[in-house]
Amino acid sequence: MPRIIAIANQKGGVGKSSVATNLPVFLAALGKRVLLVDMDSQANATLSLGIAPRKLPLSVYHALMDQVSPSAVIRKSPFFGYEIMPASPDLAGATVELVNLEDREFKLSRILDKVKDSYDYVLIDSPPSLGMLTLNALCAADEVLIPVQCEYLALEGLEQLLNTIKLIQDNLKSDLKIAGALLTMYSRTSRISREVSKEVRRGFPGYVFDTVIPRQVALAEAPRFGKTILQYAPTSLAAQSYRELAEELLKLDAVSSKEESPVIKEN
Ligand code: ATP
Ligand code: MG
Repeated sequence: MPRIIAIANQKGGVGKSSVATNLPVFLAALGKRVLLVDMDSQANATLSLGIAPRKLPLSVYHALMDQVSPSAVIRKSPFFGYEIMPASPDLAGATVELVNLEDREFKLSRILDKVKDSYDYVLIDSPPSLGMLTLNALCAADEVLIPVQCEYLALEGLEQLLNTIKLIQDNLKSDLKIAGALLTMYSRTSRISREVSKEVRRGFPGYVFDTVIPRQVALAEAPRFGKTILQYAPTSLAAQSYRELAEELLKLDAVSSKEESPVIKEN
């Protein structure tokens, strides 16, 4: 059975797609078979891996709409064991088209059922909203990984997402778990970074990854060349952090259950 992990935060630009594209390559390096599913019509993850979304004949959209089998959509990456179900701009329409379908929140879950046994990990990148595509990502997932940018108001965004997760646990998927919050774009020299990091660890105890993803320009540059950080800057601190994250994820058992859902602690 694979671990299916949705990478979600309705706040934009917090590093979801960066984590979604870079983490799999280090999981693959540890011998894991990984599928990345791009559920964002912006197709940033797809583009970051050097695949042009507009030229794609088939994407996750066509699988969601039952036009093709999901395996027909999956493409290989340059890394053994790392495959991707890419997004195309068509996905923007899926939000509307899904609304009238029966079982609309579970369309992605149903298509993953057909392919997931070929993988140890399935990671799902989701858009910056709590709309139908994010709902599909969360309902297909066993766990949620929440990238949190080390900037002010990070905790407010986290609180809103936790409320949504609670609603999903109560109404759609009782066994959805929280893998943890991942601090991203951390800068050692920034006071805000240090404060937000402390605040998130204090407010969300036990649910924050030890590993922190640093703010490094190489992480912003690599996607322009269609490369992961392992290819672009293998000896960088960023690459080292992703290596640690992959190892931490392997060790970590998802901790939350419905009964012990985390709440943000008041400071
Ligand atoms: P959206 O909500 O629009 O989908 P996102 O949460 O997926 O955004 P990313 O696209 O991963 O966020 O990151 C936003 C921008 O910041 C991108 O240009 C990305 O290359 C850059 N970036 C992400 N992580 C880092 C980092 N650790 N250091 C420096 N730049 C980063
Ligand atoms: Mg993104």
